[in-house]
Amino acid sequence: MEALVLEQKGVLSLRDIDLLLELGVDDVKIRIHTVGICGSDVHYYTHGAIGPFVLREPMVLGHEAAGTIVEVGGNVQGLAPGDRVCMEPGIPNLSSRASKLGIYNVDPDVRFWATPPIHGVLTPYVVHPAAFTYKLPDNVSFAEGAMVEPFAIGMQAAARARITPGDVAVVVGCGPIGIMVALAALAGGCACVYVSDFSAEKLAIAGSYPGVVPVNIGEQNLNDIVQKGTDGWGADIVFEASGSAKAYSGLFDLVRPGGAVVLVGLPVEPAVFDVSGAIAREVRIETVFRYANIFDRALQLIASGKVDLKPLVTETFDFADSISAFERAASARPTDVKLHIRMKAQGN
Ligand SMILES: [Zn+2]
Repeated sequence: MEALVLEQKGVLSLRDIDLLLELGVDDVKIRIHTVGICGSDVHYYTHGAIGPFVLREPMVLGHEAAGTIVEVGGNVQGLAPGDRVCMEPGIPNLSSRASKLGIYNVDPDVRFWATPPIHGVLTPYVVHPAAFTYKLPDNVSFAEGAMVEPFAIGMQAAARARITPGDVAVVVGCGPIGIMVALAALAGGCACVYVSDFSAEKLAIAGSYPGVVPVNIGEQNLNDIVQKGTDGWGADIVFEASGSAKAYSGLFDLVRPGGAVVLVGLPVEPAVFDVSGAIAREVRIETVFRYANIFDRALQLIASGKVDLKPLVTETFDFADSISAFERAASARPTDVKLHIRMKAQGN
């Protein structure tokens, strides 16, 4: 099958590769329609590794996908050929201790698309467990279906935050994940979300959503603005979504006594933070690694119209132009939020 293959760091090719397409009794076979390019795909392309995950042999990229079911295994119920679906890219070991606890996202055995050595889905067909395949409501497009994966991270962060209606939140970092966190926090009941970044272009995109207050930290002091907006009390919830170790300096000044700090971004280097400041306010610290039991909820929110992810798809490339799509993603234009790759014309 033809696929977008990362041969080694910095080298992509669109070529035939042998991929397993054996349909088990609990699996579905999906014709891929749309795949989003994720920061992690780009990082494997430009660096060949993310932390302990090192590319050692050619790997197909892509894990944010939607498509149409073409075949179902003998045990599958509730899904049928012709169903439009999106897929959760991590397949945990369902017998693992983590899975039994309901925290399958932290199962050490999880097999996650486009995380070495597991192939991703920038290829026409994939076989996937039905249990991790979700039917798209009729009013949710394939493009939105392919956005469920990054939005699920925002949803997981909002769930970890345990939002109370009317909360004021801060999201540090206005990349795609920062925006997803802000939208999930608003949908989860936050009255207002301050989003900070150095990029005016990124902030303009986030700021187009009602409830988002953009703060350009190249020009303004985030803490001053948050304190002013909360009568000096601080934000109920602070999400760290920049993944920058530097963002930890002053992070705990933003949160109110008894509030929560939710860590979403993955700093490459160890981060130093003010433990005494956190203890003095008895701040609750939460961490977010991918998501568990979130995809169906994300789809319900999108279908309800409460979250509109459509404006975040900046451009859609044909599969034949996948390599240019990745070069464009690697160039990190500040006006690009999400780039999509579309396999073949199959309707919306
Ligand atoms: Zn992703």
